[in-house]
Amino acid sequence: MNDSFAPSVLRRVRATLDRWTQEGQQVSAAALQLNLSHLKTAAWVMALLNVAHVLVFVLALDHTDPVRTQWAHGVAWAHATMAVLMLGMGAVARRGLRQHAPPRHVRLLPDITALAVLVWAGALTLVDQAVTTNISAYLNACAGVAIVLLLPPLRALALFTLAWGMLAWGLGQVSTDPATLLTNRVNAATASVLAVMVSVLLWRKYTQTELLQRALADTNRVLKQQRAELETLATRDPLTGLLNRREFLHQAEQECARARRDHSPLSLLMVDLDHFKTVNDRFGHPVGDAVLRHVAHLMTQSVRQTDRVARFGGEEFVVLLPNTDAASAHVLAEKLRRTLMHTPTPCPPPTPCPPPGSGPDIPITTSIGLVCQPAGQSHTLDRLMARADQALYRAKTQGRNRVEEMASPSSDDSVINN
Ligand code: GH3
Ligand code: MG
Ligand code: MG
Repeated sequence: MNDSFAPSVLRRVRATLDRWTQEGQQVSAAALQLNLSHLKTAAWVMALLNVAHVLVFVLALDHTDPVRTQWAHGVAWAHATMAVLMLGMGAVARRGLRQHAPPRHVRLLPDITALAVLVWAGALTLVDQAVTTNISAYLNACAGVAIVLLLPPLRALALFTLAWGMLAWGLGQVSTDPATLLTNRVNAATASVLAVMVSVLLWRKYTQTELLQRALADTNRVLKQQRAELETLATRDPLTGLLNRREFLHQAEQECARARRDHSPLSLLMVDLDHFKTVNDRFGHPVGDAVLRHVAHLMTQSVRQTDRVARFGGEEFVVLLPNTDAASAHVLAEKLRRTLMHTPTPCPPPTPCPPPGSGPDIPITTSIGLVCQPAGQSHTLDRLMARADQALYRAKTQGRNRVEEMASPSSDDSVINN
């Protein structure tokens, strides 16, 4: 055999155990919750089984044989004690499940329960030796503990080894036949080893599943975030955060269809900043960008939540006003024009701001074209946009910083009549 074989196997075992320990620590809080929840239910089942045992052994009491009477008494008392203990453990587990940071005694409850059940089963096995040579009580306890409780590998090894050691010692005190003693010790050892194996397998399965679920949840979170970012990129203007042209047209088509269905009015504003080129020329493009963001913010603040504001291109914006007639739309457009005029953009340092005396802010005015589709009329969105554009053109040619309104497209322009 290669000289380095043994150390390398040991190193691998050590590395595996270290990895298991590290992974186990990551899931220990979740494992505790699951153990408490298992205990909450298992405690009732165990207590009922204990009560059933008490009844059976009390009813089946054979008063003619003092040894058997004493044995039955012992078994009945052991089960009665365990029933009380189990109900107590169940109560602690129930309370622990409601606690945000379970105290130390709750954190140790699964280990305490496992040890208590194994030691109790060992004691019962010793009592049983008065009338039988079997060790079923200990075998049942090994199976129950290994299946019901999630125990980290090293802790499982320590618990089952300790329980077996105590039982093996106790058997030595009460057994009279060496062959029976040997077979019982060996059978108990086998059951303990099998229980450790089941514990390790269940613990590793749980750890891997839990960590996988967490990794999946993390991936899902990232994917969701990326999807939201992509959606924003696809529907929003990156500079102002307003709807982009494509998304606006999509949503506006839906609003037009709704207005047709509901026979409700619908208005559209086309807003263009006046002489915006000179802002860029005087203060630079970054300041121009700041003005566009400022204007977008003011516009969003000035409209209702159900209205749609979009950056249609360059320094041109559109506002769709569902359920709004021409008079109301005019009032809003005027309010918007005045707000934009009286709320200049704060000059972002360190740009060469307006000359001393003219104030630190960058004023801007807007021209607005308005069109309204009155209730009951039906026009295509393209037609409404074209009319709003004509109104905007008129506002520009008539001196800017004003609102101009076009009559709705004439009835022969109508393409859809409900
Ligand atoms: P008018 O009153 O006739 O609308 O004049 P105007 O200068 O506003 O219009 P014009 O179409 O001549 O110029 C639009 C300017 O808007 C030119 C362009 O550099 C600027 N612009 C378009 N998009 C952006 C942008 O994203 N950021 C900045 N800073 N400027 C932009
Ligand atoms: Mg302009
Ligand atoms: Mg323009």
